[in-house]
Amino acid sequence: MTGLTLPVMRDTDVVPQPTARHRQSAILGTYARVPLTIVSGEGAELIADDGRRYLDFTSGIAVNALGYGDPGLQAVLRDAAAGLIHVSNLFRTEPAEDLAEWIVAHSFASQVFFCNSGAEANEGAFKFARRWARAHGGPAKHEIVALRGSFHGRLFASLAATDRPRYRAPFRPLAGGITIVERDVDRLAAIMTAETTAALIVEPVQGEGGVRVLDIGFLRELRSLTRERRIALILDEVQCGLGRTGSLFAYERAGIEPDLLTLAKPLAGGLPMGAVLLTADIAAAIEPGDHGTTFGGGPLVSTVARYVVERLADPALLDSVREHGAWLSAELSRLAAESSHVRGVRGIGLIWGIDTAMRAAPIVDAVRELGLLILTAGDHTLRLLPPLTITRAELARGMATLQTVLT
Ligand code: PLP
Repeated sequence: MTGLTLPVMRDTDVVPQPTARHRQSAILGTYARVPLTIVSGEGAELIADDGRRYLDFTSGIAVNALGYGDPGLQAVLRDAAAGLIHVSNLFRTEPAEDLAEWIVAHSFASQVFFCNSGAEANEGAFKFARRWARAHGGPAKHEIVALRGSFHGRLFASLAATDRPRYRAPFRPLAGGITIVERDVDRLAAIMTAETTAALIVEPVQGEGGVRVLDIGFLRELRSLTRERRIALILDEVQCGLGRTGSLFAYERAGIEPDLLTLAKPLAGGLPMGAVLLTADIAAAIEPGDHGTTFGGGPLVSTVARYVVERLADPALLDSVREHGAWLSAELSRLAAESSHVRGVRGIGLIWGIDTAMRAAPIVDAVRELGLLILTAGDHTLRLLPPLTITRAELARGMATLQTVLT
């Protein structure tokens, strides 16, 4: 499961200079879009405007867990669209209550807060953790610690907890009271104190930062340390949660339970939705007015999410994700042994990273030319995130393409 350790990224004050770009679109250029216009999707394939089909190992960056055109999802969405679309959070709705009940029944959580994205979920979790820590530890207990290699989003506090110098430097000063520490228990134990630390945020599988599956022993030590010092352990399962690792939640693998957990990406089948799951202890510290969002947990997204979580919790689906993961592990290890371009592979279930000797971006372009869509995770890592409903034949087809390009 483990491979090469990539060079540690350091935050510096070097601000990348904007490059002159032609205005190719009315959409702001925050993404380096590839020259491909997608018009439809079917199962694990996307179809471009020239009719070309692409096998999709990106799933909308871990969003489209059920692939494209899932008939059940479409039927639920059609029915939901005929009903209430939005109601203010000043009122209760059955879909939101029902979804929250389902999540509580299937997790460690006692209550849930709904929002609209992963970054928003993490921002909410930081506020809830600080509110709780202040209640028992006073105002000095407000520091938030994140790990080397982390990605938690692009808003001010989530960006401050994200270990990507390039994303951070142009926007300083970032939110204060947030520190990034090496993935090392001794270093963390030296920095986190019962008096000053409110929360530690951890991705059980670091996605954007290079697909690093955190060691079970390390996760357990973090749980003990945070519990001893009454520090909230926040697990960010925005990318690795909801079936991607072969269990409904990635924390199940380590046999630990967090105090807070954040979800988003696949939660509402492609509609924007995030969630923060809280223990009763943390939830008890939150009062009306402490946090809010206009759209979070509306009836339409909640109805769709209720359907999606049920599908993603299906034991047959989770079994197949684990089996695909074992197969990919063997295939990718073989590829690493055969290819001088591959320096190591890491992953679990249907989230995999391939460290490459050359820059990853041109490899993504080359495999796209052969009809396969993949992602990067940093400059020298390829990332595979196929839909969880993918078949073995489709996985094998994608692996053959990768093999062609990498050997
Ligand atoms: N947390 C993790 C682990 C993520 O992978 C991402 C997005 O890639 C986020 C948070 C941010 O989510 P969003 O883009 O929905 O704000």
